[in-house]
Amino acid sequence: MEKGKIGVTTENIFPIIKKFLYSDHEIFLRELVSNATDAIQKLKTLSSAGDFKGELGELQVKIAVDPKKKTITVSDNGIGMSADEIDKYLNQIAFSSANEFLDRYKDQTSVLIGHFGLGFYSSFMVSDKVEVISKSYLDDVPAVKWTCDGSPEYSIEETTRSGRGTDVILHIDKESKEFLEESRIETLLKKYCRFLPVTVNFGNEKEWKDGKMVDTGKPKVINNTRPAWTRKPSDLKDEDYQSFYRELYPMGDDPLFHIHLNVDYPFKLTGILYFPKIRNNFEIQKNKIQLYCNQVFVTDSVEGIVPDFLTLLHGVIDSPDIPLNVSRSYLQSDGNVKKISGHITKKVADRLSDIFKKERENFEKKWDDLKLFIEYGMITEEKFFEKASKFALFKNTEGKYFTLEEYDKVIKENQTDKDKALIHLYTTDAVAQHTYLAKAAEKGYDVLVLDGQLDTHLINTLESKDQNSRFVRVDSDVIENLIRKEEKQSSKLTQAQSDDLTQVFRSQVADSDKAHFQVRAESLDENDLPMVITQSEFMRRMKDMAQFGGGYSFYGEMPDSYNLVLNTNHPLVISLADALNSEHADELKKNSAGIDKTKVEIDFMEKEHGKKKPEEISTFEKDDLERLRGELKQLEEKRKAILTGFGTDHQSVRQLIDLAMLANNMLKGEALSSFVRRSISLL
Ligand code: ADP
Repeated sequence: MEKGKIGVTTENIFPIIKKFLYSDHEIFLRELVSNATDAIQKLKTLSSAGDFKGELGELQVKIAVDPKKKTITVSDNGIGMSADEIDKYLNQIAFSSANEFLDRYKDQTSVLIGHFGLGFYSSFMVSDKVEVISKSYLDDVPAVKWTCDGSPEYSIEETTRSGRGTDVILHIDKESKEFLEESRIETLLKKYCRFLPVTVNFGNEKEWKDGKMVDTGKPKVINNTRPAWTRKPSDLKDEDYQSFYRELYPMGDDPLFHIHLNVDYPFKLTGILYFPKIRNNFEIQKNKIQLYCNQVFVTDSVEGIVPDFLTLLHGVIDSPDIPLNVSRSYLQSDGNVKKISGHITKKVADRLSDIFKKERENFEKKWDDLKLFIEYGMITEEKFFEKASKFALFKNTEGKYFTLEEYDKVIKENQTDKDKALIHLYTTDAVAQHTYLAKAAEKGYDVLVLDGQLDTHLINTLESKDQNSRFVRVDSDVIENLIRKEEKQSSKLTQAQSDDLTQVFRSQVADSDKAHFQVRAESLDENDLPMVITQSEFMRRMKDMAQFGGGYSFYGEMPDSYNLVLNTNHPLVISLADALNSEHADELKKNSAGIDKTKVEIDFMEKEHGKKKPEEISTFEKDDLERLRGELKQLEEKRKAILTGFGTDHQSVRQLIDLAMLANNMLKGEALSSFVRRSISLL
C-alpha cells in the first residue's frame, strides 16, 4: 500500500467543504453521477474512434444505498482510472480545483448556481470516508483502491474489480444520515439526473402484489436518456412536444405553443420553451424553466439568464456555455449570457410572429391567454417591443381583434381630434361603463376592451412612443371632450349662471378620504344626461400603475378624483337656473354688482400701487386695499351662502347628483336609502 498527502496545501480542506456549502450538500450526488456519465461518454468516444475495441456492453451508472453499512455507492462501467490517473485526477487536479473553487467563492456561496466546479470533492460534504475502486478500460492495468478519510492523507493500493469502471463508495457521516434513505436519493436522482444521456439505475422496480410491495427483479431506470430537446425538430411531432411537456409538468394545463431552440454558434444552446396559458397572477407562473448543462439539471431559477418576461415561459434550456459557477450579478454582465438572452428573446418573438402570420385565426383564439406574456415583454424589453408591436392584438367591444396598425386605420377618420391626435377609446368593464359606451356608440366611435392586468402599462408605453396617439377610457370625460372636434355646442346659460349652478351643486357634494369631487359645467347636447360623473384618465392610470409598485406608489395613497359634469343645456338644469333666478334674482344681482364694483376698485388700486416703490405706499393706502379685499371676500361668502341655501332646499339638486352617482355604482348605504325615500316622495 502506498500513502500520501493530497494536493499542494497541507491545510485540511474537508471541514471547510462541509461547513461551507452547508445548504447544498445534496449536490454531491449530481457531481458523482455526472462524473460517472462522463466516464461512460469518454469510453463511447474511444470506441467509436476505434481506440477501444472491447465490448461496450450495457453502459450504465448504478447507485446503491446500504443503510446498514451506511454507504452510498455510485458505480459506472466507463473508462476507469489507473493508479497514475487516480493520483493525477483525484489527488492533484480534483483537489486543486476544489481548493481553487473554495478560494474564489469563499464570500459568495449563496449566489452560486448549483455550485458547479467542486466536482468529486463535494462527496466530502456528506462523508467521513470515501473509497474509489477503479479499473481502467486498458486490459493490462490492475484495479486500484483509493481511500481518504477526510484528512489530507490518502492511501492507494492494488485491488480487484470484475470488469472496467469505477465505484465511488461514500461512508456517510452522522450529520448526513438523511442521504441513507432510499426515497431521499430517489428524489435527488429524479431532480438532477432525470434527463442524463446515460442510463441511471437505482435499485429494482417494485410492484403491488397480494397486498404488499414486491421486488420485480427489474432494475429501476431513473432517466430518459433522449429527452425531446436533444432530438431533431424534424423528428418530432406535436404529440411528442405535448408528451414531453407532460413529463416536465404532469399537473399543468396544456401549453399554447412551443419553440425548439437549437444553436451551435457563437454559443451552444438547445432547449424547448412552451407558452403556458396565463390569465392572471403571473408572479406564480414564474420560474418554471429548468436549466440544464449537458442534460444535467442545474437550477429552475433562470432569473438573470433570460429577461424577466421570459421567465413566464415553461420548458428546458440546456447550455454548456452558461457560466454556472459565477454569481447572479456577474451572470447578467457576461457576454455569452447576454447573447443567449438576446437570442432567446428574438426566437420567441419570431415564433409568435410566424404563428400570427400563418395561423391568424388560431393566434386570435389563444390571444387572451398569451396577452399577459406578450404585454409584459413589450413593456419591459425594447427589442421584443419592436417585433411584438406588429402582432400584439387589441380586442374591441364587438370581440374583433386588430393589430394596432389595423385598428388605427379603422378609427382614423372618425376618431382623430382637432389637434390631429388619434384617440383610442377603451373600456375596462363594458357592463359598469355601459352609459359611456352607449354615448360613444351614438357618435359612431369604436371602443377597445382593455381589462388586462398590464393594459395600463402597455398604453403608457405606446403613448410614449407615438405622441399623436392617445388612449382614453370612455368614462374619463364627456364624449365631446374625449375626442374634441372643432364645433363646440353653444351654452343656453350665461357664464355667470353656469358658475352659480356649479357652486349650488358643489355645496351639495361631500368629499371623503377615498373620493374627491369637482363640479364642472359643460354645454352638452340637451338630450344628454343632465349630470354625469367622469374620472380623470391621468389620475386613474397613475393609481392603476401604483398597484404594481415602482415609482407610482405615491399616487396609490391619493383619493380617487371624480368630476361631476353638469350639462348646462339640459332642460332640468336650465329650469334650475330659472328657479334660482326667480327666488334670488334681486339678491344675486345686487351681490354681483357689489362684487364687480369692488373688483374694479381693487384692480385700480393694485395698479396704482404697482407704479410706486413699496416704501412710497402709505399705510393709509395699504389699509384701504386690505379693506376692499375684505369686502370682496364677504360679498363672495354671501353669494356662496345664497347658493348653498338654494341647493340645500332644492330636492332636484340632490336628486340629480344621486342619479349620476347611481349610474356609476357609487351610491351606497345611507345615501342610497335616502335617495330611494326621496324618489318615492317625489313620485
Ligand atoms: P471534473 O469532473 O470537473 O473534471 P472532478 O473533481 O469531479 O472534476 O473529477 C476530476 C477528474 O477525475 C475527472 O476529470 C476525471 O478525469 C476523473 N474522474 C472522476 N470520476 C471518475 C469516474 N467515475 N470515472 C473515471 N474518471 C473519473
